[in-house]
Amino acid sequence: MIQICNTDSIQHVADKLRSSSSVVVLTGAGISQESGVPTFRGKEGLWKNFRSEDLATLEAFERDPVLVWQWYDWRRSLIKPLKPNPAHYALAELEKGIQDFTLVTQNVDGLHRVAGSKNPIEMHGTLWGVRCMQCNKRFENREVPIKILPECESCGGLLRPDVVWFGEPIDAEILHAIYRCLEKVQVMLVVGTSGMVQPAASFSLVAKRAGALVVEINRSETPQSGFFDFSFQGKAGEILPKLVQYVTQ
Ligand code: NAD
Ligand code: ZN
Repeated sequence: MIQICNTDSIQHVADKLRSSSSVVVLTGAGISQESGVPTFRGKEGLWKNFRSEDLATLEAFERDPVLVWQWYDWRRSLIKPLKPNPAHYALAELEKGIQDFTLVTQNVDGLHRVAGSKNPIEMHGTLWGVRCMQCNKRFENREVPIKILPECESCGGLLRPDVVWFGEPIDAEILHAIYRCLEKVQVMLVVGTSGMVQPAASFSLVAKRAGALVVEINRSETPQSGFFDFSFQGKAGEILPKLVQYVTQ
């Protein structure tokens, strides 16, 4: 149900959050929009006229690793100077008061950690991680610009960005952990995600089946808006701090 984000509706969701011991938050590119991170869809997501769908694949990397690394280097250079916004900080604050709090993000920008969220599940990986194509070891790497092509310090193999590309599965253990949380969740917030990328798009269905109150916060209406118990239209950086203020006051 689309709701005006007014005092009554915010208070209702805040009351429910305050009395819940199990909360899951799913975030997408929209939560980082006010930090200046470009979302994928739309012209700001383009680089040299390539669409992200044509670069963020294993096939693209195998065909032309230099091109794909140049694109990631560009994305890392855009994101490195950016800061979390009030929406990221509000979630880090909310976490403190809830016994069983799980933050799942589709974002690869790392901003939830910078804002102080303890253990976000970065289900699509992170731009600040690299993984060896040969020995599979993972490393943190924050160099901008990165040496192209980067090599594994352990075996000399080619490193790839440690992100989940189109057509690749999400790590089974991570998915399992998320579903375990969703099966007992009491309130779920879905923030700044278009609901077009699976399996994240179906998490709210699982939560609702478990009896949770499911709340969307998005600047625009999404194909899923009608399904939520509350759908607050507006900027995450304005709505989330207000909501968390109601919870903690
Ligand atoms: P998306 O780009 O498909 O959708 C973004 C959603 O956020 C839209 O529904 C939009 O209406 C909403 N939105 C935009 N600004 C907002 C704001 N200020 N407040 C509230 N809502 C706002 O993003 P998605 O659903 O996350 O899926 C895209 C995929 O691309 C993800 O898998 C993600 O891994 C990847 N991606 C990540 C980043 C990042 O790390 N920040 C950026 C771009 C894409
Ligand atoms: Zn290696």
